[in-house]
Amino acid sequence: MLIVNSVTKYYDQNAVLQNASLSLLDGTFAALVGSSGSGKSTLLNLIGLLDRPDSGDVVIDGRSVAVLSSIEAARFRNELIGFVFQSFHLLSRLTAWENVALPLFHRGVGRAERRTAALAMLDRVGLSDRIGHRPEQLSGGQRQRVAIARALVTEPRLILADEPTGNLDSATGLQVMDLLRQLNRDLGVTILMVTHDRDMARLCDRVIEIRDGRVLPQEEQG
Ligand code: ADP
Ligand code: MG
Repeated sequence: MLIVNSVTKYYDQNAVLQNASLSLLDGTFAALVGSSGSGKSTLLNLIGLLDRPDSGDVVIDGRSVAVLSSIEAARFRNELIGFVFQSFHLLSRLTAWENVALPLFHRGVGRAERRTAALAMLDRVGLSDRIGHRPEQLSGGQRQRVAIARALVTEPRLILADEPTGNLDSATGLQVMDLLRQLNRDLGVTILMVTHDRDMARLCDRVIEIRDGRVLPQEEQG
């Protein structure tokens, strides 16, 4: 489902990623680990089409992203990819269900249909009783559940999660991790999750390690 082929990315003439390659089979839940500054977020942003590599290519679902125009890339991203961030990135003035429904709003889906889809997704993440709460009325773990529901409401094939448990205490982090695992199993969605936490990484199907912008060699999967 995902192939990263010898991607290089420079910032200010420093190679932040150097010939980084990896591939993920459909339905895999993979951890991306590495020390701070090793290039994890840069790699995730390239895969998520938020940024472009200086050389190399990313292939998602058989489509090479290098040849996409920026409008095509945006459409491709909206259709196929969901993002989860460390700091949740919820809109504070919107309720839980409105936050979850937002990607559908951007797709032009009508309000009633948006609400139905958002409520179904909030139910899946265990927040049926919090649909009308705003982010400040929710705990950190609940906020991340809302963000996960938002990432999934468009039924993406791939979830990119950048340290989704980084702002949570370890017990809450493990609950979020369990939820991602469950969604991976139930929906078959492929997940690539950046984490610092070796215990979290161990719960994934695969651990991909990056060091100084290089993906460490690992055995081929499948
Ligand atoms: P990680 O997520 O593994 O902590 P990053 O991918 O965020 O690492 O960053 C890798 C390196 O690239 C760091 O040295 C960082 O300072 C640098 N970097 C990241 N983004 C930018 C940017 N937009 N401009 C300049 N340097 C950047
Ligand atoms: Mg990072």
